[in-house]
Amino acid sequence: MIELHVHLDGSLRPATVMELADQQGILLPTCDLKVLTDEYLQVPDSCVDLVECLKRFDLPIKVLGTPEAIRRVTYELVEDLAAEGHEYAEIRFAPQYARFTGYSQQEFVEAARDGLKEALAKCPAMKASLILCCMRGDDNREENMETIRMTARHLDSGICATDLAGAESLFPTEMFADVFALAKKLDIPYTIHAGESAGRVSGPDSIRSALQMGAQRLGHGVLAIQDPTLVKELAARKIPLEVSYTSNVQTKAFPTAAEHSLRRLYEAGVHVTLNTDNRTVSNVNLKKEIIRVKQAFGFTDQDIAVMQQYAREAAFTRL
Ligand SMILES: [Zn+2]
Repeated sequence: MIELHVHLDGSLRPATVMELADQQGILLPTCDLKVLTDEYLQVPDSCVDLVECLKRFDLPIKVLGTPEAIRRVTYELVEDLAAEGHEYAEIRFAPQYARFTGYSQQEFVEAARDGLKEALAKCPAMKASLILCCMRGDDNREENMETIRMTARHLDSGICATDLAGAESLFPTEMFADVFALAKKLDIPYTIHAGESAGRVSGPDSIRSALQMGAQRLGHGVLAIQDPTLVKELAARKIPLEVSYTSNVQTKAFPTAAEHSLRRLYEAGVHVTLNTDNRTVSNVNLKKEIIRVKQAFGFTDQDIAVMQQYAREAAFTRL
């Protein structure tokens, strides 16, 4: 299996969250692992939108405040993915959170690369690479620029690309034009989260901005369905969409799960790929995700193989 869109901080082992909190003297809201998982790490069914779902990252980000924590969880995620039969995965995280605890992005990136390297040495059947995320916000321009420079410095050495993540309804993609102008100048491949959640920016507009900025892939992109001309363009240009059905249902990207655009985009010839987005936050893995989309949309094994082939072709690393 191949997966292109999985966030490190959304995919921590709950027991590891407890241990890391303990080691760092971080007070947890509960000592009960099940309560911690259900009430603080996983998205509730009652989640109203992406902004609310993003609150489930508060605790993971808090316990990931040291390079050693970053190294450990990167190692564990690769180990988990390998155990489930992944052939390749692109794992993403935002090194700029290092500033919360006084570390540099360089220290976090090196720690993640170390964890990746150690895990891959033990899991020879698997390949994996890291995507460094810039974050949406209005006070972190310099941090985003540093993430781009960090990606350029380590490209092809455990790092394969950059991304833009966070609340797109609060901070529209156009705000980050200068960040991606630098990425383009430095010849860095990038994907951009766009067309994931409705808000004051329309999904198709958000996708058009990402394409104008030169994104080679789109994180989600599922709201493209609202604009038939855009769907045709995505299909014609073979722009891969990193679709995460379970996550999109949880963030209420569509009023109901049945209205999710995956089947319609696939039928229209768009290169849709299947991804978990966040294994712990969404309580999902790629096997479950595949079963769910087969049940929801009647996809055959052949359809799933086509989507896996799209993922293979869209990978930022040559497979
Ligand atoms: Zn994502």
